[in-house]
Amino acid sequence: MKLDDSSLQKFGFIKRETLGSINIDPLQTGGRLTEAAKQALVEWGDGYSVCDFCGGVLDQIKKPPIYDFVHKALPEFLDCDEARVTNGARESKFAVMHSIGKPGDWIVLDGLAHYSSYVAAERAGLNIKTVPHSGSPDYYLDPEGYATAIEEVTKESGKPPALALVTYPDGNYGNLPDARKIASVCHQYDVPLLLNGAYAVGRMPVSAKEIGADFIAGSGHKSMAASGPIGVLGVSEEYAPIVLRKSKHNKVKEVEFLGCTARGATVMTLIASFPDVVKRVRNWDQEVENARWFSARLEEMGFIQRGQKPHSHDLMFFEAPRFYEISEKVKKGRYFLYKDLKARNIHGIKSGLTKYFKLSTFGLGREKLEVVADSFEDILKKYEDI
Ligand SMILES: *Cc1c(COP(=O)(O)O)cnc(C)c1O
Repeated sequence: MKLDDSSLQKFGFIKRETLGSINIDPLQTGGRLTEAAKQALVEWGDGYSVCDFCGGVLDQIKKPPIYDFVHKALPEFLDCDEARVTNGARESKFAVMHSIGKPGDWIVLDGLAHYSSYVAAERAGLNIKTVPHSGSPDYYLDPEGYATAIEEVTKESGKPPALALVTYPDGNYGNLPDARKIASVCHQYDVPLLLNGAYAVGRMPVSAKEIGADFIAGSGHKSMAASGPIGVLGVSEEYAPIVLRKSKHNKVKEVEFLGCTARGATVMTLIASFPDVVKRVRNWDQEVENARWFSARLEEMGFIQRGQKPHSHDLMFFEAPRFYEISEKVKKGRYFLYKDLKARNIHGIKSGLTKYFKLSTFGLGREKLEVVADSFEDILKKYEDI
């Protein structure tokens, strides 16, 4: 033990610099806590706090109402047969990949898949075939590409892929692919489909059954106003016995979840926010309208929104040739944008980015979005002569 008191001084309670900012970071807009969740975080912050009245299975806990949440509310919300809480969308995906595939099997991913889909597949020992997208400017994903990829895998490996995945929407452009069509293409080959809804579940209406997805993954800290790390997983009846199978050694514990997942404040913040999350999903049309309004304002200033147009999600990708030009000439270089936004109390565009960046308009409301759009305009004006 070499730690002396002075080396401990920087730890302890730490203030969060960006807490009061207008935050447009796509990672963070859907994970802001409700007041109820903030309270829950303190109330249930002790380790294993939910286990006071546990009989051995996390999702069977009646007090607090984890059982009702996992077995009644969540399947209804996701519109699927069975649901579980996990430690994140990636853990949900890994549980599916690991149980449905065997090492050496193939999986088909969309060309815009998140890195966590790749590493989950890698950890499960699966080979990856990707479905290409059309590239700039709209990054369109053709559902027929799944047929091609599945046929290629079958030809090259002698059997169809164990699973296909679609990212709905993707985390770069906020594109919503035709998941229903993709599910139907995959099912023509008897390949089950996993819908990665990390940016959908908790923001917008999404129904696993309507889409025809066999599995659906969501992220509590990304899109369900939870502290996390926490995720949700929906599974169809057909695949539930495989994904939710129980241990040989401990008859009540589910293997893919290592027995128990979210065992404390994480699940309690998810439950605390859930009523508000259900209600905000009903408000999705307004969110889309806000995103389109914001995109139009930025385009008026000479920015170019890439990806689907008109856009149907709050996550948007912009190209900003003028900001790039400025960055090449000002003293602060490529950090000017971050600093100028910071001076206006706006956080969320990655420090150092100017030419391309993504942002999210979710939950900000028209008033704050106006402040953000006006700030972009101000910054352009400030460097007018450069
Ligand atoms: C953020 C994100 C994830 C990861 O979610 P976690 O809950 O942190 O595991 C997965 N997929 C996409 C598309 C994401 O944007």
